[in-house]
Amino acid sequence: MKIEISEDARKWQDIARAYADEYLQPHEVEAELNDGDLPQDITQRNKKRALELGFAEIDVPRSHGGRELPLESQVAIWEQLGRITNALSWCFSEPQQWMFDACSDAQLEKYVLPMMRGEKKDCYAITEAGPGSDLSGLEATAVKDCDDYVLNGEKWYVTSGNLADFFWFQARLPEENDDALFLVDQETPGIRITATPKFTHSYAAHHPTYRFKNVRIPVAQRVGRPGDGMAYTHSWFRHERLMIGARCCGAAARLIEEAMAFANGRAVGGLPLSEKQIIQFMLADSATELYAARLMTYDAARACDRGEDVKALHSRCSMVKLYVSEMANRVADRAVQIFGGRGYMRENVAERFFRELRVDRIWEGTSEVQRLIIARSLLKRGLDEM
Ligand SMILES: Cc1cc2nc3c(=O)[nH]c(=O)nc-3n(C[C@H](O)[C@H](O)[C@H](O)COP(=O)(O)OP(=O)(O)OC[C@H]3O[C@@H](n4cnc5c(N)ncnc54)[C@H](O)[C@@H]3O)c2cc1C
Repeated sequence: MKIEISEDARKWQDIARAYADEYLQPHEVEAELNDGDLPQDITQRNKKRALELGFAEIDVPRSHGGRELPLESQVAIWEQLGRITNALSWCFSEPQQWMFDACSDAQLEKYVLPMMRGEKKDCYAITEAGPGSDLSGLEATAVKDCDDYVLNGEKWYVTSGNLADFFWFQARLPEENDDALFLVDQETPGIRITATPKFTHSYAAHHPTYRFKNVRIPVAQRVGRPGDGMAYTHSWFRHERLMIGARCCGAAARLIEEAMAFANGRAVGGLPLSEKQIIQFMLADSATELYAARLMTYDAARACDRGEDVKALHSRCSMVKLYVSEMANRVADRAVQIFGGRGYMRENVAERFFRELRVDRIWEGTSEVQRLIIARSLLKRGLDEM
């Protein structure tokens, strides 16, 4: 399916596709059958190659040694990496542009630039059990005490907590009636894992629950300036929602290709399955929805690259996240159906995506939360300004 993208995006698409095909896809089943883990030498080799290709530099400003790619090209990369199950593409860390707006020089040196070099890994500790989707109700606190902040709270679902060197920790500042992000090293006294729940997918990255009890960090580890509140968390959400869209497009494309290949090769009553109209309709609906999803994802990326109004971009990234994640789940469901009993085996890509894509309707804001964002924007600004 060809849609118009820039030459640069096309170039990165090819690079990412070759990497995904050669380095990642051959290890999916091994990872699946081993709770998401691969042998260290394979993970290290995949990480090394990703760093050589520059994937960790794509959103880093040139002034900091990065490649500063347009989001259109970044989408092209993550679309191809999205073809792979078991989060095998998460073998490198990716500093994001907003970090360079938010962080001090010292914070960039200590935390962000080492991520680009593959020396450090981060994780996000934002969600809490009580407020859940309602981030305005966060209960974790940061209270200033001389040259330190003292952090308290419990954070759920901290993805990659078992692999990360440091947290982006979101807390309320009761004294300022505001929120802020803090950079917190894993080994800081007072941080404890209270649970490591098992989730639906088989990923090497776990999602532990952490308790922060009187965790003392220097004031210099507060991110941004007073009054910034949730601004940087929202920047992160926009980026992630767009890239979830990209990855879901890649997953849907792979599912359609694999289901089609199976339907062509599988004979039922002496005829290929692909000759049955009911199977053709499932493939046709999937391809049509993927076309729409790709158009909107690339269009939103280009709108970000043009620097359009941030409020409009916020709701457009929500639309991408909502539509494309729901689309990919429909495609996965149809792919399982086309594969029949084989589609229920964990060795089968459709089975794995059927489970893995489900969380794309939940994390970075559930589909319902995306609808709230879109509806608020629509009612406030009108259709023409979205
Ligand atoms: C595998 C996984 C990894 C994650 N990784 C991270 C991470 O790294 N860092 C992090 O901080 N968080 C992470 N999360 C948390 C994730 O972002 C939250 O699960 C998500 O935002 C929803 O919050 P909740 O689970 O508390 O659901 P709830 O807020 O309790 O929502 C429950 C249901 O109510 C609906 N709902 C909620 N509010 C409204 C409303 N106002 N109107 C209508 N319906 C509503 C929701 O859509 C949902 O259907 C992760 C979650 C998962 C499952």
